[in-house]
Order: sequence, then C-alpha cells, then structure tokens
Amino acid sequence: MYDIAIVGGGVIGCSIARELSRYNLNTVLIEKNNDIATGTTKANSAVVHAGYDAPAGSLKGKFNVRGNEMFSQVCNELNVPFNRIGSYVIANDEEDMKTIKDLYDNGVKLGINDMEIIDANEVRKNEPNLNKNVVGALYAPSAGIVESWELAIANAENAMDNGAELKLNFEVKNIIKNDGVFKINSENEVIESKMIINAAGVYADKIYNMVADSHFEIHPRKGQYFLLDKVEKDLVNHVIFQCPTKMGKGVLVAPTVDENIILGPTSEDLGIDEKENVATTFEGLGFIKEKVAITTDKINYRNVITSFAGLRAEPSTGDFIIEESDQVEKFINVAGIKSPGLSSAPAIAEYVVELVENSFGNLEKNLSFNPIRRKRIKFNELNDEEKAKLIKKDPQYGNIVCRCETITEAEIVDAIHRNAGGQTINGIKRRCRPGAGRCQGGFCGPKVLEILARELNVKPEKIALENIGSEILIGRTKEKI
Ligand SMILES: Cc1cc2nc3c(=O)[nH]c(=O)nc-3n(C[C@H](O)[C@H](O)[C@H](O)COP(=O)(O)OP(=O)(O)OC[C@H]3O[C@@H](n4cnc5c(N)ncnc54)[C@H](O)[C@@H]3O)c2cc1C
Repeated sequence: MYDIAIVGGGVIGCSIARELSRYNLNTVLIEKNNDIATGTTKANSAVVHAGYDAPAGSLKGKFNVRGNEMFSQVCNELNVPFNRIGSYVIANDEEDMKTIKDLYDNGVKLGINDMEIIDANEVRKNEPNLNKNVVGALYAPSAGIVESWELAIANAENAMDNGAELKLNFEVKNIIKNDGVFKINSENEVIESKMIINAAGVYADKIYNMVADSHFEIHPRKGQYFLLDKVEKDLVNHVIFQCPTKMGKGVLVAPTVDENIILGPTSEDLGIDEKENVATTFEGLGFIKEKVAITTDKINYRNVITSFAGLRAEPSTGDFIIEESDQVEKFINVAGIKSPGLSSAPAIAEYVVELVENSFGNLEKNLSFNPIRRKRIKFNELNDEEKAKLIKKDPQYGNIVCRCETITEAEIVDAIHRNAGGQTINGIKRRCRPGAGRCQGGFCGPKVLEILARELNVKPEKIALENIGSEILIGRTKEKI
C-alpha cells in the first residue's frame, strides 16, 4: 500500500515526487507511457517566465513568481541547464507601448521589481537582428530558459534516489475508493494508495471524473513550433515576445539552452477529445512564419531542423486548479497547469506538500534526503586533456555515436542506467541529445537502438522510437516473419 500515488509523469508530477521524497512517505509516480516527460512537458517554449502577465491574485501569478525565484537553486541541485538571459516584450507602436506599461504595472503588483521599459536604441543595441520598427520593450531580467524535459527527468531521478518509486506503462483506467483506500486500476494491474495526486495534464479532468463529478474540463490548446539549427544561435540574445493577446503570449523568438533557436507557438483551440492531436500543420507553421516576420526578417528557414507541437491544458476555470477535492477526501487535483506551468513547477510542488501535510498531519522528514542529482558528463564540453583522461578510464567515451552533437556511447549507457533512465530512442535523445542535432538521428538512431537493446537485454525489435507501438524494426531482412 502506498501513502501517495501521483498520476502523471510530467514536470508537475515529477517535481511533486521529488518534494515528497523529502519526507518518509511511500510514494509512487504513475505514468501511462513508457517514459516520463512525454506529454506537454516535452513540447513547449521552455521559458521560465518572469511572471508579469498573469492576473495579480491568480494562482498562475503567485506560483510563477515564486517558481521563478526557486529556479536557480533547483537547477543547481539537479544539475539541469538554466540560463537567466532575460526577456523582451517588444512594442511596435504606441498602442503596444501602452500594453507593455500595463504589463509592467501588473508585474509590480505581483512583486517583480527589476523590470525596465527600454527605448528603441537600447533594444537595437542588444538585439541588432530585430526589425527596425521596434519602438521600445519591456525588459524582464529574471526570465530564463531551461530544458523542460530534463527538469522533469532530473526531478524524477532525484525522487527515486531518495526512495520514490516510478511505474511506467501504467495507464490509470479507473479508481475505486473503499474504506479510505484508493484502488487504482490499469488494464492488468491494481495498486492501492491512501492518497492520490492528479497531475495528469490534459487528462486531469478524465482522472478526476473517475472519482467525482468534475467541476472543470480541460481543453487542449495546440502550440506549434519550428526549431532552428545551432548555426542560427546568435540571432537573438534574449527571449523575444510580441505583445500578448487574449489567446496567450504570442509568437516568440528565443534561444534554447542547447544553442538552437525556437520560433512559435501557435494557439489553436482543439475539441475536448483531441488530447493526442500533436500534429503540425501547413497552416500552423505558415502562421508562425507570418508572425515571426513582424519581429525579425532575418530567419533562414533552410536552417529549420524540426517542427513539433504541444498541447496546453486549458482549464474551464481559467486558472490553475490546485486543491484537495471537496467531494473526495485525500484526492488532490493539480490540474489545468497550462503556461506558466513549467515556470511554476517548483512552487506548485512546494505548495502541494503543504496540502498533503494539511491532510495527513505532520510529515516525518526523510533524514537521508540528498537534493543533489549526480552530474551528467557532457563529453563535448570537456577540453582535450579531460577527454583523454575519461577515455582511458572508460573506452566507451572514445566512441562518438552522435556526430552532430558529439555524444559518446558512455553518455548513452549512463542515460539508460540512471534512476528514471531512458528506454526509447527519443527518451535517450531527451537525456543526452543523440539525434537532437542537424541530422535529427538519421546517422545515430540505429546505433542508439543497438545500444538500448544490448543494455536492456531485449531484442532490437522491442525498442521503440517513443510510445508503445512505435517500435522501429520488425525482424531481419530476408527472414520469414
Ligand atoms: C505550446 C506550449 C508552450 C508552453 N510554454 C511554456 C513556457 O515557456 N513556460 C512555462 O512555464 N510553461 C509553458 N507551457 C506550459 C507547460 O509546458 C506545462 O504547464 C507543463 O509542461 C505541464 O506539465 P504537466 O506535468 O502538468 O503535464 P504533462 O507534461 O502533460 O504530464 C502529464 C502526464 O500525465 C500522463 N497521464 C495522462 N493520463 C494518464 C493516465 N490515465 N494514467 C497515467 N498517466 C497519465 C501523461 O502521459 C503525461 O505524461 C507551455 C505549454 C505549451 C503547450
């Protein structure tokens, strides 16, 4: 019997699992897919927002500001790349200048005191590739960029290092509560828990409906993106936003922590049943091109290396829903965590522990809790002497598997065998980047597959690109099937 079952292995569920591992609780993190961070957490802008745009008084505003403050420490402890590069909301006319003044005032109400409204000269000096029609910008120095999936993975790994359990391939199909115990059923397994934390992203309404008449719905809102090759890395130095609209923060141009440039997203409301619709479309990508052209005409679309889409979990209530259910005791919803959910994740996790404590009473501290996640060696960032030393210690560092990103066999093997390790080709890409470069895995994909099969001791036909059903091989050529 578990004390707590967290449903959903996105950045929210994983952050909560880590916070709870500070206490002596028997916690399990449940995920329907064969890896964590495969939902919204793998496809977003990866910006840690300063937090000036959510309405003052909203949960989004409160947790964004607190989350932003926590990011440096959390990322240091978990060894996750995070760069506080600052953001600009650019104004192209006097109307936009009014909007950024409103954003500034709202930010001050939320307690953000380091913002500045800067003039066109200052913008041009720092961002020479923006179009000449910029008349000013709201500069927020506390905004940053992070790798959203690595943050989730690192949280899950550290939670497991500290005693939490992870159950993959467990799709919650129904939940029954009897005598204070939740029986959580998948297709072929049942687990029991005293408490449930519902962090199921776009499916949080469905999970809540298994135990109560949900008072909220979660609608998917799609965002599509282009990702540019590293040759474009000097295009902009800050996260560049356009003035926001009712549909969101608009289309951005921003560096990523891995030195790519991201362009997007769209904001497209989908039907309630389209919770798996992450297809990119000609129209959506065309819209991004059109909007980005307002910010800069310097994009070379020949340097696009991939396009992708993610789904915002748009709650019918308009704000994050983070509360113990008033219908079902010991069932906590962490639902509708749309943007700025990534920025808010550490603060949401901190708050959920408070809710757990209110419900369970005083929690006993885990005295052996270690907040530090073992550093991941990045071969391509070492000098020649360090590389030679490593290769001498472990010859697998001498085998470059991914040429675009210079990723070695040893890094892949480590990514497989850590707690919450990767078991799919994309899972390995998210952990140490083979396949994330210009050729997008054309060269290294088959080699990663071989290493996965060898290390997991399974047949190559069992190795999937991503979710179950995306296995790549069906057998040997010329072999009868
Ligand atoms: C286009 C876009 C841009 C964004 N940009 C930003 C940004 O720049 N900054 C920012 O702060 N936020 C941003 N966000 C928001 C941010 O990405 C999300 O708030 C965050 O990733 C939500 O994480 P999550 O864990 O709640 O959801 P998810 O990552 O979706 O995780 C939920 C998990 O639950 C699992 N699950 C669902 N049903 C079941 C079931 N029945 N059984 C078991 N498991 C189940 C899913 O498989 C999934 O892994 C953006 C979002 C989008 C879509």
